[in-house]
Amino acid sequence: MHTRVSLVVCASYDDDVLKEAVAKAIELSGFTLSFLRGKRVILKPNLLMPIAPERAVTTHPAFFRAVAELVLDETNNVCVIDSPNFFALSSALKKTGIGEVAQSLGLEIADNTITRPLHWEGACRYKTHEISEAFFDADVIINLPKLKSHSLTYLTGAVKNLFGTIPGTKKAQMHMKVPDPVEFSEYLLDLYGATLFGFEKKKEFLHMMDAVVGLEGEGPGPSGKPKKIGAVIAGADAVAVDVVAAKLVNFDINKIFTITRSFRRSFGINSPADISIKGDDIEKMKIADFVPSKTSVLKSRFWSSITPALKNLFVERPIPVEGKCTLCFYCRRVCPAGAIIEQKDARVPAFNSSKCIRCFCCLETCPNEAIVLKKGLLQWGK
Ligand code: SF4
Ligand code: SF4
Repeated sequence: MHTRVSLVVCASYDDDVLKEAVAKAIELSGFTLSFLRGKRVILKPNLLMPIAPERAVTTHPAFFRAVAELVLDETNNVCVIDSPNFFALSSALKKTGIGEVAQSLGLEIADNTITRPLHWEGACRYKTHEISEAFFDADVIINLPKLKSHSLTYLTGAVKNLFGTIPGTKKAQMHMKVPDPVEFSEYLLDLYGATLFGFEKKKEFLHMMDAVVGLEGEGPGPSGKPKKIGAVIAGADAVAVDVVAAKLVNFDINKIFTITRSFRRSFGINSPADISIKGDDIEKMKIADFVPSKTSVLKSRFWSSITPALKNLFVERPIPVEGKCTLCFYCRRVCPAGAIIEQKDARVPAFNSSKCIRCFCCLETCPNEAIVLKKGLLQWGK
């Protein structure tokens, strides 16, 4: 299948600049805004956690506003939803600035806690997903990911952002159920396929990526570092949008299993050659020094068969840092393996590296950058 992805220069979150870039990206992607007339539209930003927009962890509120205003020109039936890792949606909306935009535009906020099973028989392995009910009655889903590096999936973009259809802590439970990064990526593709083919009422998709400022290093949470990229990317195919994002930040797509494994599927593109990039010149926009996560989990093809002892020798493990840790215990709450416990009179929680499955949910969640990666005893190199 051939698909089109638009790539447009956007130097800042200044309202006028952004709105022009977003409108151009939508037009070049082949999506017609008038199609939205009279339709029910879901806007699905990345609201990982309650955090200020300057940290580049969540979709920027100005980006959200630019898209929402264009949508509102066509329909008033617009709803916002996402499921932060374990924080309430209301607190994430408030801190990220997206709640204020949604309120000023009169957008409906969906209840992300009411769920319903979404079943797709054509999935490779994970056929049923308990997702937020609000997605079911939509005609169009506009997915608004942020371009970020990711400790487990290398890149988080359009495919990974759909993981937010699963409510709160159920996401962490999936990490426990599927700790292997390759298998986890297959799971994400089954979920993506379910959103394409599992709904009785078929949805149209538009994936609009906020790549004006991205997040590099130990993303996708506060341990990552904001990095200016200066782009808006849009398309109807989530994998294709992620391929263009990866190329833009000079990431090797072979390290991104949500991309490589998708090429074997019966839907979507089969290779990067199936993408026509419309708009600005990707070669001139490339960010050559965008830093990926340091974790080595993606280098192991046999992750699920590695014993805890071998993991401790050859794989980085998260450890808390005294002086930075405030003992908020968000890490303990999010840890699906029960590997983090409170220790009496200590200034940091105790991390049990043998129980740890290296999902890095703690690193993603810690609000104080108080978790760092420590190399395994037999790991070498940078
Ligand atoms: S390591 Fe981070 S998340 Fe965990 S208790 Fe300390 S500050 Fe909180
Ligand atoms: S300690 Fe951190 S990386 Fe390890 S299982 Fe718990 S949340 Fe995941």
